[in-house]
Amino acid sequence: MTTWQDTIARRLRAVHLDTIRNQMLVFAVVATLVPALAVTIVSHRQNRPPSIGDQVAPELRGASADAAWDIDQWLSDRLRDLRVAATAYAVAENLARTQGSAEAVGRLRDYLNSVRERCPDCEGLLVLDARGRFVTSSGGRMSGVQFSQDRLTTLRTSDALVGDAYWDAGLGKATLALAVPIRQADGRYVGALMAKLNLRSVADILQRIAPTDSGDVYLMNEQGRLILRLRSSSAEVMRTKVPPATAQALIDREGTTVEYKRADGRAVIGTLRRIPALRWAAVVEMPRAEVVRRAGGSGSGLGVTLVLLLAGAGLVTYVGVLLVRPLERLAGAAAKVAAGDLSVELPSAGRGEVGLLTQVFKNLLMRLREREGQGELERLSVTDALTGLYNRRHLMGTLANEVQRSRRLRRTFSVLLADVDHFKQYNDTHGHLGGDAALVKVAEILRKMTRGVDSVARYGGEEFVVMLIEAPIATAAAVGERIRARVAAEEFSGGKMTVSVGAAEYPTHGDTPEELIASADAAMYEAKGGGRDRVVVAGRRADLEKEGKRRRKGEA
Ligand code: GH3
Ligand code: MG
Ligand code: MG
Repeated sequence: MTTWQDTIARRLRAVHLDTIRNQMLVFAVVATLVPALAVTIVSHRQNRPPSIGDQVAPELRGASADAAWDIDQWLSDRLRDLRVAATAYAVAENLARTQGSAEAVGRLRDYLNSVRERCPDCEGLLVLDARGRFVTSSGGRMSGVQFSQDRLTTLRTSDALVGDAYWDAGLGKATLALAVPIRQADGRYVGALMAKLNLRSVADILQRIAPTDSGDVYLMNEQGRLILRLRSSSAEVMRTKVPPATAQALIDREGTTVEYKRADGRAVIGTLRRIPALRWAAVVEMPRAEVVRRAGGSGSGLGVTLVLLLAGAGLVTYVGVLLVRPLERLAGAAAKVAAGDLSVELPSAGRGEVGLLTQVFKNLLMRLREREGQGELERLSVTDALTGLYNRRHLMGTLANEVQRSRRLRRTFSVLLADVDHFKQYNDTHGHLGGDAALVKVAEILRKMTRGVDSVARYGGEEFVVMLIEAPIATAAAVGERIRARVAAEEFSGGKMTVSVGAAEYPTHGDTPEELIASADAAMYEAKGGGRDRVVVAGRRADLEKEGKRRRKGEA
């Protein structure tokens, strides 16, 4: 592994990321969040700085421009209607004849009434002569409609006068006066046609373009005095004045957003647009809190996006966990096998790397089982079923090998033959199973009292042989004695038990396995004859031969 791979692996371990599951979790989260955050940061940078005002600027700009345009249009329409009326033949002609003609005045009044009927915003109309004197008027209240003589004089050359809006207490309405010149066919100025308009249509325009429920729209004149406000038109409103600093700031930055505090202390963001023909301005406002709330709303949109991204990461991780599961199963099975349990069963994991690994593992397991079976057979073939010691056949083989080895190396070794005393009696008293248990116990003692290199075997029913490698007879006798003492000291379930032990040495007492066993056997018999529970070392070979003959004769 290269150094950097090593470093990464070490780091991962340091933050407990050594499982594939955790690594996948972190990978999924990082892989989802990093691009998402990058995109967020980049888009954030591109839109910088997103001041509070900027967020509503288009809306406020649009609304104020619409208000100004619509009101300007409204005024143009009214002036056009008035001019059309002023140029009517009936107006100039009858005005010229009014001098002393009640009939002409009557016709003029009828005409004004017919105009008023066609003009929904018109509260009333009146006609002045060239010197500014009242001639006649339509029905309706015409009080308050007046222009200074100076201004009226300008009508001779201009084409319209637009008065200041005012509160008509009699009507209970905000009103506005307009005047257009009346000229004869040759262009001579003969008088003025004046109209008093209510501002209901203008109020409707404000209502239509109002930005949101919480936004406000109002009209103010050049002095900063209010004319109309959204949903409220009153003498009170018309007496209200926008603080000069605010009005100035709005006018200076016409068409852009301005943040300020209203007279009622509310923080707002507003945009102003002038309506030059009326010397008015339309202002659209939105409470700052509302704008902030909306910005917060887009922030929570980011929160939702994050939650969705995390959910996506969770899903990816879950899929990852599903992928890892066969690996975990495999690891679990391997742990069981390592602990010696070869009975584990693994479902096949399909194709792919994990499937291949599973198949390899299964093959490995099969071969382990075969080998285990063979090992068991081998073990059974060399051991004694009851005690687990080597059996006689194996002992004889081992002895043969040892004889050869010792002959070649000119070394010595010894054998001990131990026979349980009065075992028949023990068996009779405690039953065959009791006897078996006692034999197992004796076998344990023999194993414990000898070295690992020595071979301990069950030679026959209650006879055991120990082969002590590279041990001279003296050592063998000592070991035999220890065994005897240990057995004699042991508490068996049926009480006390003793052994008689015969010891023989290679090559002194025999140079074949059979001779050695025969010598030890003879010595063991000697021990029996001597009163049992003792160790007897084999005599010389010559003596043994004599003894053997004697025994054979006795048996015959
Ligand atoms: P001695 O002191 O002369 O050796 O007397 P002994 O009774 O031990 O000698 P003997 O050879 O007469 O008796 C051996 C008995 O051991 C006979 C047999 O029933 C019993 N025996 C042999 N193999 C087993 C075995 O595997 N289990 C049990 N329980 N008894 C066994
Ligand atoms: Mg016996
Ligand atoms: Mg016996």
